[in-house]
Amino acid sequence: MIKINENYLKLKAGYLFPEISRRVNAFVAENPQAKVIRLGIGDVTRPLTPAITAAFQKGVEEMATDSGFRGYGPEQGYAFLREAIAINDFQSRGAEITADEIFISDGSKCDTGNIQEIFGLDNKIAITDPVYPVYVDTNVMAGRTGQADAKGQYGGLVYMPCTPENDFMPELPSQPVDIIYLCYPNNPTGAVATKAALQKWVEYARANKALILFDAAYEAFISNPDIPHSIYEIPGAKEVAIEFRSFSKNAGFTGTRCAFTVVPEELKAWTASGEAVSVKNIWNRRHCTKFNGVSYPVQAAAAAVYSEQGRQEVRGLVDFYMNNARTIREGLSKLGYKVYGGVDAPYIWLATPEGMGSWEFFDLLLNKANVVGTPGAGFGASGEGFFRLSAFGSYENVCQALERIAKI
Ligand SMILES: *Cc1c(COP(=O)(O)O)cnc(C)c1O
Repeated sequence: MIKINENYLKLKAGYLFPEISRRVNAFVAENPQAKVIRLGIGDVTRPLTPAITAAFQKGVEEMATDSGFRGYGPEQGYAFLREAIAINDFQSRGAEITADEIFISDGSKCDTGNIQEIFGLDNKIAITDPVYPVYVDTNVMAGRTGQADAKGQYGGLVYMPCTPENDFMPELPSQPVDIIYLCYPNNPTGAVATKAALQKWVEYARANKALILFDAAYEAFISNPDIPHSIYEIPGAKEVAIEFRSFSKNAGFTGTRCAFTVVPEELKAWTASGEAVSVKNIWNRRHCTKFNGVSYPVQAAAAAVYSEQGRQEVRGLVDFYMNNARTIREGLSKLGYKVYGGVDAPYIWLATPEGMGSWEFFDLLLNKANVVGTPGAGFGASGEGFFRLSAFGSYENVCQALERIAKI
């Protein structure tokens, strides 16, 4: 008899986005003339830029020649890309990361989901609330949690509320934890982590032999020069942190697929008997066993992000989305909404008016303004009373959405 992994049965049904679709589809069926504007998506909309497309096409052409054909590449990624990343994303910011500490992959969703595999099941996991659901669900699948309660919180996890009162940066946990997931700039709150805030977490991790899993998928959207782009800008972080980066949001690679994970040489984890083990070696072993590399043309396209022209083009994409973010933030503020984020991140997190429930506000916005956003409660219990709007749309739609919201 085939036994299923029953941990999967603990997962709450993928609830948030299917429920949004259900409500939007029902509304459209009843109001076929309504022009619905979708500001709920966490996906980019602008096309790949010319320098990146040219490198992508050149990579494909090379593959079609005898001399340029490539079969399996290095599982960790081609040296040309790993070196460009080490120099441009880290060394240029004073973070001593080298190419051999970088692992190229097909996405940060996969990496943030897969990383927990190499750590013991008895680690205590801390996550922020609200949170990117991948961190939670993959630990449920692995068996690190009990069942979900009525609020949707799983037994065994440590939830760290992120609210306006703490600037969406969690307090240090009052009980010991081993693995801490942090995402800054944050999805969904749009908050950033200051150097001081990250320093506090790095010190906590060093003092407690804990690990920080730092998701920096949105670092390119930081505009404030004092905000660190990498956790490795914090002294001592190399001993306690893994960082996840992606080309998805900055360079429009959500459909092209390329990302990377940094696992520093210095990072250690321990056996039950207290023996130190190199995390990088274990992750390398896992990566080489379960992954066969990102395609050559895609890695060539990703490397073009670091060319002079590529850099300017990607800056243009980020500026485009951040102009939308500013427009949403300022427009809603003028209308009297309390808004957060949208300065160093492409998400605006707004407090629902008069303490309205986040699904209630979703229905109001859909019915009265024909605008779709994401209810905060979908990201965790502390997201109740909040609502996420994404800046990844067109400028025209953003302006029209604001005009309609003004009339509610
Ligand atoms: C979009 C996003 C990513 C990137 O995922 P990819 O698989 O690289 O497309 C990672 N983390 C968060 C929080 C995100 O929102």
